[in-house]
Amino acid sequence: MVDNTLKFLPTIDIHTHFPLSPVTFFISDAKNLPPFDKYLAALNTAHVTDAVILCGPKKGAMRQENELLASRIKPMQGRFIPVAWLNPKYDSPDDFQALIEENNFRGLKLHPVFNGYKLTDLIVKPFIEKAIEYKLPIMIHSGWGPEGSVKDIGSLAEAYLDGTFVCLHMKEEYGLNDRFSHIEMAAHNTNVFLECSYIPHPRRLAEAVDVMGVEKILFGSDYPWGARDIAWEKTKVTYAPISYTDKKRILADNAKELFNL
Ligand SMILES: [Zn+2]
Repeated sequence: MVDNTLKFLPTIDIHTHFPLSPVTFFISDAKNLPPFDKYLAALNTAHVTDAVILCGPKKGAMRQENELLASRIKPMQGRFIPVAWLNPKYDSPDDFQALIEENNFRGLKLHPVFNGYKLTDLIVKPFIEKAIEYKLPIMIHSGWGPEGSVKDIGSLAEAYLDGTFVCLHMKEEYGLNDRFSHIEMAAHNTNVFLECSYIPHPRRLAEAVDVMGVEKILFGSDYPWGARDIAWEKTKVTYAPISYTDKKRILADNAKELFNL
């Protein structure tokens, strides 16, 4: 029997986007994005108290897109944790530093698949070092292409033991990331957290808790992508065969510690 009161558990969504420039690629459905009031309504319906907010996808340099986002959320800073999505091929570590110093960005996001590079490329290095210098988490997209290999995230985490990494998505893909890739990689690397959007089933979450412990598992929706419904994504945590305390940790407590909330 599922306890419906669980849907009211205060939640921190560590992976949402709000694109301010038009998104002209992806499948047509993904281009029709909700306006800001709908975005806020989605957070409220899912009882999301705080959300990591990222800009939308952009080809080429991305600094400006992050700055637009910062000015959009300025009156609501308390609720949002802005994380800078940058493209190491076009942006510089100085761009990242400016976003931290001038706009209070509190993490780095890398998307090697969309932006077209490998995590092992030398251009990535100074961004990781900058995040470590400021003690900020480094969120990395996984899946949807060879550059999204979970193994590469593991190698990067091993090379930078001072860094704190978050592997985004727990999507299983034939020939790329299988059922246990994410869990085993995070169990092996103490400095890697897992964000669980696209996890196929609540039971998989229980397996993750069994193998790696609950402390490094974080709730994220990838809204307005993913299931395009944060409350629905949250049911994968509330329906999982794990303890109430573990659900609370995944939905909020772990993220509070990671982002010093
Ligand atoms: Zn994302």
